[in-house]
Amino acid sequence: MASKKIIIDRSKCISCGSCVACGEGKIKFIAGKAWSNESDYTDDQAQDIIDVCPVDAIKSGDENEYKKSYEDQEVAKAEEDEEDC
Ligand code: SF4
Repeated sequence: MASKKIIIDRSKCISCGSCVACGEGKIKFIAGKAWSNESDYTDDQAQDIIDVCPVDAIKSGDENEYKKSYEDQEVAKAEEDEEDC
């Protein structure tokens, strides 16, 4: 069942691109750091993405955890800043 969100700790991300490459378009760089959109992942899909990160910056969580991380890390602001460039 597809139910997990991918949550990335952007402070740990070293921008290696591995998760972007295997994220099927659901993960992209925003202001130089990776972030997943709100797509759902199965447990296996989420684990595959978690496993590619060399710095353990990726975890899975529910929608509330995803939204909290999005707000705490000010991803919306990073998106706006990137569009301004
Ligand atoms: S795999 Fe990890 S370090 Fe590499 S881009 Fe993704 S989150 Fe960043």
